[in-house]
Amino acid sequence: METCIEKIREIAKDLLEKGEVEKVIGFAEGTIPMATSPVSITSADDVDRLTFTSTCGLNLANYAAKEKGKKIAVVAKGCDSRNLVTHIVENQIDRDNLYIIGVPCTGMVDKVKIAAAVEGEITGFEEDGDTIKVTSTLQNLTAAKEDVLKDNCRYCTHRNPALYDVLAGDLVEEQELDNPFPDVDAIEALDDEGRWAHFQELTKNCIRCYACRNACPLCYCPTCFVDESGPQWVGKGQNKTDVDTFHFLRAFHCAGRCTDCGACVEACPMGINVRDFTRKLNKDAFEMFGWEAGLDITKRPPLDAYSPDDPNDFIK
Ligand code: SF4
Ligand code: SF4
Ligand code: SF4
Repeated sequence: METCIEKIREIAKDLLEKGEVEKVIGFAEGTIPMATSPVSITSADDVDRLTFTSTCGLNLANYAAKEKGKKIAVVAKGCDSRNLVTHIVENQIDRDNLYIIGVPCTGMVDKVKIAAAVEGEITGFEEDGDTIKVTSTLQNLTAAKEDVLKDNCRYCTHRNPALYDVLAGDLVEEQELDNPFPDVDAIEALDDEGRWAHFQELTKNCIRCYACRNACPLCYCPTCFVDESGPQWVGKGQNKTDVDTFHFLRAFHCAGRCTDCGACVEACPMGINVRDFTRKLNKDAFEMFGWEAGLDITKRPPLDAYSPDDPNDFIK
C-alpha cells in the first residue's frame, strides 16, 4: 500500500505542477484511526496529505460530479471508476475534463466489524499486505484483512479500475465467484410475508438522515424527491410508510446503475444494510440484460435505453 500512496502522490504532484488539472480528489487521513476521508487538493505542496489504505471505502465519484466544468483528477478504485463511467455516460462529467488515477483494489475493511472485534477505544490501525493490526486502549488485534472485509468487497468481481488514465499500482487478480448473489437468493427464497418482515426489520431503525443518499454517486438530482415540497411526494416524518417509500424509490432510481460500492452502507449511522435493496436490482439487471453498471463507456444503462428492435411486446 505504501508504494501505491507514493505513486498517487507522485502522479498528483506532476498533474498539479504542470497545470493539467485544477484539483486532485483523493483520500486524506482523518483525525482518528481508520477515519480516512475524501479530500481535494489544489497545490502540489499538499500532495503529502493524500493517502490510500484499506479504510478508504467511500466512493470518490460522488465528489467528481460536483466539479462540472473543471479539469480534475480523481483517485479511483474499481467501483469508483465504474461510477465515473456512469457519470460520463449520463453527462454528469466530461471525459475530457477528467483524469482518472486508477488504484487496483484488494478490498476495503469494514470499520464496524473491526470496532465490534476490539475492546476499548481504537488508537491505531496499520496494515501489512493481507494483515491488519489494530491497537486499542485495551488490546492489540492482528487479523487477516479477508476476515474483516466489507460485505460488498467480498462479492466484488471488478477490483481493477474499469477506466483509467494511469495506474498507481499493478493490476490485481479478479475474484471469480460461483454465485455472486447468495444474499439475494436467500431473501428471494422467503415467502411474501417473510420478505416483507425482512425489509420491515431492515429499515425499522432508519432515522432518515439521508447519509446513504448523500454518499451515493448515483443520487445527483438537484432536488431529491424526498426534499421536494411542491408537490410533496413523500411525508417528512418517521412514519414507516414514508421511510419505506424513501428506500424503495431510491433503490429503483439506482436500478442498473449501482456498482455495489458500499458507500451507502458505510455512511449509515444506524448500521442499515441499504444494499439489500440495490443488490436485488443488480442481480435482475445481470440476469435479464447481462448488465453490470459502469463497465462500458459507450452504453447507457438498460432502463435508460430504447430500441425499436426490443423483443418484448410491452415496449411496442
Ligand atoms: S467494491 Fe471492489 S473495487 Fe470497490 S472497494 Fe470493494 S473490492 Fe475495491
Ligand atoms: S446505491 Fe450504495 S452501493 Fe450502489 S452505487 Fe450507491 S452508494 Fe454505491
Ligand atoms: S443513512 Fe441509514 S439512517 Fe440515514 S436515511 Fe440512510 S438508511 Fe436511514
